[in-house]
Amino acid sequence: MTNGNGKSDTLLKVENLKMYFPITKGILFQRHVGDIKAVDDVTFEVKRGETLGLVGESGCGKSTTGRAILQLYRPTDGRVEFEGQNLTELKGESLRKMRRNMQMIFQDPYASLNPRMTVGSIVGEPLEVHGILSGKARKERVKELLNIVGLNPYFINRYPHEFSGGQRQRIGVARALAVQPDFIVCDEPISALDVSIQAQVINLLEDLQAEFGLTYLFIAHDLAVVRHISDRIAVMYLGKIVELTDRDSLYKTPFHPYTQALLSAVPLPDPIAEIERAKHRIILEGDVPSPANPPKGCNFCTRCPARDRALKEKGIDCGEVEPEFKEVESGHWVACHLFG
Ligand code: SF4
Repeated sequence: MTNGNGKSDTLLKVENLKMYFPITKGILFQRHVGDIKAVDDVTFEVKRGETLGLVGESGCGKSTTGRAILQLYRPTDGRVEFEGQNLTELKGESLRKMRRNMQMIFQDPYASLNPRMTVGSIVGEPLEVHGILSGKARKERVKELLNIVGLNPYFINRYPHEFSGGQRQRIGVARALAVQPDFIVCDEPISALDVSIQAQVINLLEDLQAEFGLTYLFIAHDLAVVRHISDRIAVMYLGKIVELTDRDSLYKTPFHPYTQALLSAVPLPDPIAEIERAKHRIILEGDVPSPANPPKGCNFCTRCPARDRALKEKGIDCGEVEPEFKEVESGHWVACHLFG
């Protein structure tokens, strides 16, 4: 399907993406003894102008997915199609050109900005790398960008340590916007910020999306954060997407037992409803298994409270048979034997 400009509605298509990190032994002859399967066969699409939330506990592979999409890590296998072009096949100059359309906002505004560079150099660096504007014109563009993200353009010669956490994240946003990208991976952009500042950064990202028609992959570790900003949400567990649907369906009728557990932990603003919710909170037992040695069958089987139900109702042993990630209702994808 195409939009009015003749462009496809799908901006990004990720197919069977795998990102494995090899485990080696020995100092001289490094033997390959296994892999950390950080991202293991992930498939999804991001439509032009939407925000796809990608949620899961820390270490589930969501940030690695973001980096593998941008080719900051070269994927082990699978396709990443951006504007119809498979990025995994691009190298050198053609990859660099493509990267101009895809930027990243990092989690930690304290660590992601070079403390020895002025704000002007930090925000202007992508312009320099991509050979866009120079001299006075570049300086003017940097000032304009600072203005766009709500910072005083006269701060251009200051250093990151002179700013608060929220202001530093705004510098990170200005830097990502500098080359006028279509797509931004927002990697937990508010997790390191004070709660009082978080809403401001979310509002800024939403305003920028409306103004510049941006598409976001918004990574977060809890469902409360992505609820406001996402159009659709993908839930990740141990390197795989276990559920993907539009925001309202996910919060009203979560199918996957892991999504249900995550949602039961999201605090409610109404204290009475919160007391009621606490009675039904699903506490997951055990730890997340190691991605170097994921369980056989369904990757959630070691902690799933519904595993016995799958055996009773469907006659399937979740510890043996891996569920397929399939569309069980229009636009609602789940990887669980209980559905579909
Ligand atoms: Fe639980 Fe089985 Fe569904 Fe996996 S497939 S989520 S173990 S019920």
